[in-house]
Amino acid sequence: MNPLTLDRQGADTRQSCDKPDGQAQQREATSPAAVEPQEDRARPSRRFRPLAWLWNKFPTLMVLGVIGGVGYCGHRFEWKVPKFSTLVGAEPAERDDWCAEHGVPESQCVECNADLLPRGPQYGWCREHGVSNCPLCHPDVAELKETPAVSPADLERAALGLSVEERARNNSVCKLHQRRLQFASLDAVREAGLDVALVQRQPIQETVEATGEVRYDPTRLASLSARAPGTVWRVEKYVGDTVRAGEVLAVVDAKEVGRAKTELIQALAQEELQRKVFSRLDGLSSQGIVPGRRAQEADAASVQARARVLGAQETLVNLGLPVDVESLRNLGEDEAVARLRLLGLPESIAAELDPRSTTGNLVPLRAPLDGVVVERQVVAGEVVDTSRVLFQVADTSRMWLMLDVRLEEADKLALGQPVQFLPDGSRQGVGGKLTWISTTADERTRTVKVRADLPNPAGQLRNETFGLGRIVLRQEPDAIVVPNEAVHWEGCCHVVFVRDKGFFDSDESFKVFDVRTVRLGAKNEKFTEILAGVLAGEVVATKGSDVLRAQLLKNNLGEGCCAAD
Ligand SMILES: [Zn+2]
Ligand SMILES: [Zn+2]
Ligand SMILES: [Zn+2]
Repeated sequence: MNPLTLDRQGADTRQSCDKPDGQAQQREATSPAAVEPQEDRARPSRRFRPLAWLWNKFPTLMVLGVIGGVGYCGHRFEWKVPKFSTLVGAEPAERDDWCAEHGVPESQCVECNADLLPRGPQYGWCREHGVSNCPLCHPDVAELKETPAVSPADLERAALGLSVEERARNNSVCKLHQRRLQFASLDAVREAGLDVALVQRQPIQETVEATGEVRYDPTRLASLSARAPGTVWRVEKYVGDTVRAGEVLAVVDAKEVGRAKTELIQALAQEELQRKVFSRLDGLSSQGIVPGRRAQEADAASVQARARVLGAQETLVNLGLPVDVESLRNLGEDEAVARLRLLGLPESIAAELDPRSTTGNLVPLRAPLDGVVVERQVVAGEVVDTSRVLFQVADTSRMWLMLDVRLEEADKLALGQPVQFLPDGSRQGVGGKLTWISTTADERTRTVKVRADLPNPAGQLRNETFGLGRIVLRQEPDAIVVPNEAVHWEGCCHVVFVRDKGFFDSDESFKVFDVRTVRLGAKNEKFTEILAGVLAGEVVATKGSDVLRAQLLKNNLGEGCCAAD
């Protein structure tokens, strides 16, 4: 700002201030050294009037007063709009009657006032069953109007269930089972979305699950090749055909067979000749007509000829053509040849053939067992040798189930345990028994192979089908079960929340759930077996019981015995 302008403004101000007072202007003129603008402005205070001053300051004081009032009220009511009743001094009790720790009115809080709902008997830790306040040993702890009976069967089931495998353990020093969780009212229970269910008795089974594959029983599976190289002359059976042991699958034309038959015929003729020679020489030598040496030589030749017959017979047996040599000895040579020509062929085939014109090389390939032709690798006219598998015949009335069990579960298995198998895509399961457990584990998958024999009379099981197997460890027809969602892990124990037996005594009765430590057994899609901790007929929190767990852990934080997750 221009200093000149300022100066001028200052002068103007002085003028306008001083103008109304003529005396002042004169005094200024007489004593110019005392001219001070401040002194001029302070001048009215010399005549101070309290009433007028107050009147002038009234608006300011009003504003300050209102601000002060609002501040006080805000602080007093924590910056909430106070109820009318509070303002008028009628202080209701409910504001202070609230137990923040347990979420219910202080005056009704059973945790803060133990006398309101006295605790039942406390029996402490049960070493046998691994729960606190064990209902199996002390049925009077059950939240039921009448003390239930615990049968010897119940105790036996618990003992077996706890011993059959390593179960999750509870912390013996944990005190959370003493806690009770309370709702202010039935409406509060409803708002929390809490459901309950009866502790029931139900059949349940404990199983080890494993994926697996159905295979032919290799002890009942035959892979068949030709006994001698040759050409397939005829195929009799096809894949899927049911066959009986001994039935002909195919007929092979093999030169070796013809040769073996010829050899037998020749050996028989030779044997016959040597026999005759010997008997004549033997007679002559005994009469002294020929030397005894000649008879001995004939005897040796006769033995040799018999050995040749046996060798030829053996060759035919090895080709799958057993032959009755004794009956052939009584036949003439032509008849014997005719008999041997169709040797081994079944009547059904032999009847169609002319024994005089048909080749003598034919040899049938027979099924060694009752079963089904599961594979055929040959057609008529094909050249085959002895190394090639032409047919596979399987007895499918029993099948093998190979299961891969996780290594850590293999210890639970024993031979003879029942096995259930559900093939993929099938709704009908098949049952069998565990017959073999491998002594080695697969180094890559860390699984152990086990086998079950499955009956398959209707043939519904097929080779190389996959599916889910269950090995049954324990079957309980009458187990104590709760819905799966009722069970919680609170950090060191499994617990369920049991509804107090007085819950529905009246509208005012305390809506309380007790914490009960439990030991778990088998589990299926819906239910968990409780080996110890609750008894049938008690009522447990199910759907929405996470609310109770959260409340339990909230109150437990800092208590130290359990680590909340
Ligand atoms: Zn409380
Ligand atoms: Zn017990
Ligand atoms: Zn615990």
